[in-house]
Order: sequence, then C-alpha cells, then structure tokens
Amino acid sequence: MNRIMTPRIEINLAKIAHNVEKLIQLYGLKGIEIMAVTKVVCGGLAVANVLVNNGILVLADSKLKNLKKMRDSEMKVQYVLLRTPALSEIDLVVKYADISMNTEISVIQGLSAAAEKQNTVHKIILMIEMGDLREGIMPTHLEGFIQEIVQLPGIQIVGIGANFACFGGVKPSEANMRDLSELASAIEMKFSLSLPYISGGNSGNYNWYSTTENVGRINNLRIGEAIYLGCESLDRMPIPELFTDAFIFVSEVIESKIKPSVPYGEIGQDAFGNYPQFKDRGEIKRVILGVGSQDVLVTGLTPVIDIEILGSSSDHTLLDAKKTDLKVGDEVMFNLSYGALLSVMTSPYVFKKYIDAIEPAH
Ligand SMILES: *Cc1c(COP(=O)(O)O)cnc(C)c1O
Repeated sequence: MNRIMTPRIEINLAKIAHNVEKLIQLYGLKGIEIMAVTKVVCGGLAVANVLVNNGILVLADSKLKNLKKMRDSEMKVQYVLLRTPALSEIDLVVKYADISMNTEISVIQGLSAAAEKQNTVHKIILMIEMGDLREGIMPTHLEGFIQEIVQLPGIQIVGIGANFACFGGVKPSEANMRDLSELASAIEMKFSLSLPYISGGNSGNYNWYSTTENVGRINNLRIGEAIYLGCESLDRMPIPELFTDAFIFVSEVIESKIKPSVPYGEIGQDAFGNYPQFKDRGEIKRVILGVGSQDVLVTGLTPVIDIEILGSSSDHTLLDAKKTDLKVGDEVMFNLSYGALLSVMTSPYVFKKYIDAIEPAH
C-alpha cells in the first residue's frame, strides 16, 4: 500500500480558484475590488499564483518575508503590507511593499526618509479606529494627522481603511461604513486628495455587503478567510456557491485500543499544567493520532466522520472513535477553523500536498 506522509494539509487549488473567482464577481457587482490576503497560507507561491491567475491584482500580507517571497516570483501585481510597520523594518517595507497600512506619524516619517533614500515614493493607507480597537487612528485626530504627513516628500496617501471583527469582534454596520465613507469624502475635500482605496474591512463584511442598499464610498475589501474557507467571519456561515473544504487536514492512527474513559491512579497536572477532569462513559474505543498541539491548533479541528476529540498533548491527539472501526494506519480527516489553518500552514511538521482538480482521482 502506498502511503502519503501524515500529518498533512491537502490544499485544493482548483477550489481556491473557484472561490476567488466567485468572490471577485460577487463584490464587483457593487463596485468593490478585493485584495487577496495571503498570510494564512504564509505567502505560499502555489496559492498566490492561483489567486493572480484568477483575477486578483493586489496581494496583501502582514509579513515582509511573505511579501518578499511573492515579489521575487515576479507576479505582475501590487503588494500591500497589511500591518503597520515596525520602525526596525521600514527600509524593507519600502523595498517589498508598494503600499503599507499605517497609524503612526514617526513610522510614516521613517518610511518617507527610506523612500527618498531609495528614490521612490511609498504609498500608504491610513487605518482608522472604528470600534474594534486593534490598529487605527482615532477619527477625531485624522485631519491633524494628515496635516503632518501631506508634506512628506517620500509618501503618497492612497487610501483609508478600517478593520472589524478582529480584536473586539465589532461588526461592520450601515453606520460605521457610512462613517468611513464620510471621512473619506471629508479628507478628499479638505486636502484636495483623491483616495483610490477606501477599504472597509475583511471577510467579516460579507453580511453588511449582502444586505446594504448602498456601499457608499467603500470600494475595497481585504479578503482572506472567505477565499480559503468559503465562509464569512462573523458567524462563520458558509457563503453560497463557495467551497468550504478547499483545505483538509489529514492525520493517521498510531494506536487503537479499547480502554477506560477515566484515567486511573493518583492525579496530578497534565502536560500543560492543568488538572484534567473526565466524564465516565465506561470502556471506549480510544484512538491516538500521531499529531498534537505542536503541529496544529487541535481545538480548531472538526472531524468529517462521527468521532470525538478528547484532547491532545504536544504530539498525540486522543479520540473517542465511537462506532467507527479506526485502526492503526487509517487516515482521519478534519475540516479546519481559521486558527487551525494558520497553525498547520505555519508548522514545519505538517506536509503540504497540493491538489489541482476539484474532484481528484484517487
Ligand atoms: C488578516 C487581515 C485581513 C483578512 O481578514 P479575513 O478575515 O481573513 O478576510 C484583512 N485586513 C487586515 C488588516 C488583516 O490583518
């Protein structure tokens, strides 16, 4: 029998292509362009190529290392750094990002100097705080802020943006989207600027987008999760016509035995410093997978068959195999949450297998 290495993540490029094409169409209906966010796939070139070949013109990532990798591959697109730069990386930001998102004067001054040194002009999108309380300039400070940077020779302001549903879980709404639109118009008037990017948010903006009669000035969204997992990110509802299984996590059974459901002996701390508690369900079929918390965010895995994850340590995941006949060597598949996907794509221990057809031949 031919075995493919586990643990592995199976990445269906054909499904990703389908999802991104559908999302470009959908958002295009009301005049919104999408930037594809690549951080959850670590700027992987196989995925980035699929995005670009299916209509994406701008790739956005929060890591310079990922931007450099994609830029070096010479795809004909623009690159956006999604996160406000650290002062220690500004030279590289100017080198690898066409546009960066910013919230701090001192950083923007540094970017301007770095851009002048490199004989270029660096473009920035100013992130505005609209309630989620991650990054952003307070709206009341925005005009003063812009006043300080419009004169910088190495900087061009190309847009404003806001972020929702990331830290505070705040939802994009009619009201906060209208506020962002009005801010954009006010700034354009006051500073005689034109802002090509008015970036209203991320995959969490789906419900607002679907129900709003008027997107106002919002003409851009930065989309990651919806492309990869086929869902919006407020309630994790599937988006119609998208694949929700473009990524499948595959692990392997390394032990399968009938054992009690409650540990016996004197109980101390477990591997992570907790005092574990267990429900007695009698003897059960306990299956161990050769994968653990060092490889994947186990709490973000959902089995595709009827089994239950009991818990995990660094390298083992324990299952109640219920009525299945799982035995050593069998593969067990899972859907992944965004957090789980982030963990496996980032893990050097998880083998990446790319699939090019929607229905792969087995
Ligand atoms: C990660 C990120 C996104 C993408 O969010 P999704 O929910 O995956 O669509 C958008 N904007 C910023 C600033 C981000 O950091």
